[in-house]
Amino acid sequence: MFTLDAPAEVEGVVDTIIIGAGPAGMTAAVYLSRKKRSIAIVTTDLGGQMSWTLGIENYMGYQYITGRELTSKFEEQVRQFPVPIVMDEVVDISREQDLFAVRTSGERVLRARTVIVASGKRPKELGIPNERKYIGKGLSYCATCDGPLFSKLDVAIAGGGNSALQAAIDMGQVAGKVYLVSRSPWRADAVVVEKAEGTPNLEKRIGFEILEVLGKDKVEGLRIREKASGAEEVLGVQGVFVEIGLSPNTAFLKGMVELDQYGEIVVDQNCLTKVPGLFAAGDVTMVHEKQIVVAAGEGAKAALSAHEYLLKR
Ligand SMILES: Cc1cc2nc3c(=O)[nH]c(=O)nc-3n(C[C@H](O)[C@H](O)[C@H](O)COP(=O)(O)OP(=O)(O)OC[C@H]3O[C@@H](n4cnc5c(N)ncnc54)[C@H](O)[C@@H]3O)c2cc1C
Repeated sequence: MFTLDAPAEVEGVVDTIIIGAGPAGMTAAVYLSRKKRSIAIVTTDLGGQMSWTLGIENYMGYQYITGRELTSKFEEQVRQFPVPIVMDEVVDISREQDLFAVRTSGERVLRARTVIVASGKRPKELGIPNERKYIGKGLSYCATCDGPLFSKLDVAIAGGGNSALQAAIDMGQVAGKVYLVSRSPWRADAVVVEKAEGTPNLEKRIGFEILEVLGKDKVEGLRIREKASGAEEVLGVQGVFVEIGLSPNTAFLKGMVELDQYGEIVVDQNCLTKVPGLFAAGDVTMVHEKQIVVAAGEGAKAALSAHEYLLKR
């Protein structure tokens, strides 16, 4: 049941600020609300990566559900409680005596006794000079989200892992020609490789690097170079999908917590970081396996750990 009377802004000091409203953050919000804790969510979207996913077949309770539907169900469960959801980007966290001050790009400062970082991951960029100019003009970081816009057009997909190959297989159903451009040999599950090999309109470019996106106002081509021979080629494509992995969203922590070699937050089995009162959950952490059910479970754990920490304070 929805309640729509959640305050839009956060008054005074709350028990817990949750950063992020993906599966981890929204689950943490429900657990803490049920413990009658005062909380606030600060987030740049609702659903996180879950909302980018077309079809989910491995979240228990649903044999199949779209990412948007599952996001709505999570949101509905959060909104049973009067939880303020502040749509803003966290840019900094600092200690102020025994409180945390969370600063946002919208120049808000929110204060809390504990924080749960559930900020997940964002797609990695290619790092070529003109890349950002084409975002939303034919260049996308999510084939699942934007692929249907490229019906019958020729596209290139950058990457050689599971997500790139899956994107190529999916785009094979939608697009005209699909080029799969990877710097090194594919590193993907056998079943995915088999499907990619069997996609009739897929053309491989293995051992190639991407030099430049071409086009006046929108993507019209992609210039690539074979690493071994140095030979260049221009692919005439109207779409480019970058599927080269994800990076954890931790910039706002600015060295406050320990990160592992992948830039993921180091937590103990109770989701606690090295900083007392600062918890983390889901894909932003070193937890093994990045899945909705895992992130939701970690969100629940972080919430219960924060509740216990507050009881002992
Ligand atoms: C294309 C795709 C398909 C997938 N398919 C499946 C699947 O079928 N099954 C499955 O189990 N898993 C799947 N996953 C993985 C799953 O979506 C993730 O493991 C899960 O969403 C992680 O949840 P999270 O809450 O930890 O982080 P995220 O989902 O990444 O959510 C992070 C949240 O933090 C917010 N945020 C980030 N930075 C800030 C900031 N500075 N300030 C405020 N808010 C911020 C974001 O807006 C977002 O709300 C898929 C992932 C992708 C990309």
